[in-house]
Amino acid sequence: MSVTDQAFVTLATNDIYCQGALVLGQSLRRHRLTRKLVVLITPQVSSLLRVILSKVFDEVIEVNLIDSADYIHLAFLRRPELGLTLTKLHCWTLTHYSKCVFLDADTLVLSNVDELFDRGEFSAAPDPGWPDCFNSGVFVFQPSLHTHKLLLQHAMEHGSFDGADQGLLNSFFRNWSTADIHKHLPFIYNLSSNTMYTYSPAFKQFGSSAKVVHFLGSTKPWNYKYNPQSGSVLEQGSASSSQHQAVFLHLWWTIYQNNVLPLYKSAQAGKAHASPGHRMIDCPEIETPAVITCDPLSQPSPQLADFTETETTLQPANKVESVPSEETFEPSQELPAETIRDPSLQDALEVDLAVSVSQISIKEKVKELSPEEERRKWEEGRIDYMGKDAFARIQEKLDRFLQ
Ligand code: UDP
Ligand code: MN
Repeated sequence: MSVTDQAFVTLATNDIYCQGALVLGQSLRRHRLTRKLVVLITPQVSSLLRVILSKVFDEVIEVNLIDSADYIHLAFLRRPELGLTLTKLHCWTLTHYSKCVFLDADTLVLSNVDELFDRGEFSAAPDPGWPDCFNSGVFVFQPSLHTHKLLLQHAMEHGSFDGADQGLLNSFFRNWSTADIHKHLPFIYNLSSNTMYTYSPAFKQFGSSAKVVHFLGSTKPWNYKYNPQSGSVLEQGSASSSQHQAVFLHLWWTIYQNNVLPLYKSAQAGKAHASPGHRMIDCPEIETPAVITCDPLSQPSPQLADFTETETTLQPANKVESVPSEETFEPSQELPAETIRDPSLQDALEVDLAVSVSQISIKEKVKELSPEEERRKWEEGRIDYMGKDAFARIQEKLDRFLQ
C-alpha cells in the first residue's frame, strides 16, 4: 500500500552530507518503502549529486533561504548563526504532504518504520545526553506554513539554546517531555551511536530491536576507514566503543558500496553523451566540487590497487597488538541476535568490505606523517587513519585516478 500524501524527509546542505542522505534513502528502500522520499538541499549541492539524489528520492527540493519569503529572509539576516537550523525548519513547508517523518542524513534505517506515521506532531525520541529533551535527528511532524512561521518567529525571538535546531525545537515544543507519552518515540527509533557504549548493558539487551541508528556527533560514517586486511572498520576511542557500532558502520558502508556507488556509474554514463564540461543541471553560482567520475568497483585500476596497502601503516604496531582486529572489530561477534536474523543485514555482512574500503584508502596523507608523528598522534588520541575529511579526499583521489 502506497501512501502518497506522507513522506520521509531528510536534509543535505553539501555533497558530503548527500552521501549520508543517499545511504539513508537506500536503507529506507530496502524495507518495503510505502511513503514518498524527499530530500531538501541547498544551492551548494553540486549538479552531479542532484542527479544522483534524484535516482533515490522522489523529490529533490532546493531550499534557498535568501530567496525565500521576506520573513524567512529577515530571520536569517537577524540571526545568521541559525542558518542551518532554519534550513531544517523548511521541512514544515512541505504542505503537499499531510504528515512526514524527518530523519537526519546521518541516520540509517534497519527495518520498516511505517508505524511512525501513526504518531502525531511532535513525536521524537529522548536525547541520550539530556533525556528531558528530545533528539531532533528523527521526528514526526505535520507540514504547515503556520507552524513554520511560528517556528521562525520563535527562532528570531529566542534563538536556540544550543545554537542548532534541537535547542530551538525543544523550546518550541517544550511540553514534549510531560504532555503525551505517545509523542515519546521509543529509543529504538533513534538509537544514537554514543549510547551504545555509554550504557552498554542496555545496548546488549535492547540493541537487537533497533530500527533507526543515528551516527550522532562529530564523527560520521563517511569519516571512517576500513582495515583492508580484516575488512573491519576502524574507530577512534576505546575498543569497547567500537564493538557495538562496528556492525552498523559495516552496514552503512555496505549500502554505500552496493546501492550508492553504482548510481555514480550510471550518472557518469549519462554524462558521457554530453559535451566535455557540460553540467547536467545548471547551477551557475556554485563551483562544482570534485566528483567521483566513475564506479571504482567495476573498474579496478592498478593505481588504486597500489594505494590500498596503506592501512596497516596507520596503526602503530604496538597498539595494534593491544587491539586485535578479530576480537575487537569482528562484526559477527557483536551482532545482536535479532539483527542477525535480518536477511538484508546478513547479506550486507557477507559482502567483502575489504575490497571497497581498500580502494578508498588514502595513502598520500599517510605518507606525509613520520612514524614519530603518527605515534604521537596515536598517543594523544588523535588517530589520523579516520581523517575527518576522509570523504573529500576519497573524492579527490577517485577523481584523479579514474578519469
Ligand atoms: N546537515 C547538513 N549539512 C551540514 C550539517 C548538517 O545537511 O553541514 C543536516 C544533515 O541532515 C544532518 C542534520 O543537518 O544529519 C543535523 O546535523 P548532524 O547530523 O551533523 O548533527 P548531530 O546529529 O551530530 O547532532
Ligand atoms: Mn544527526
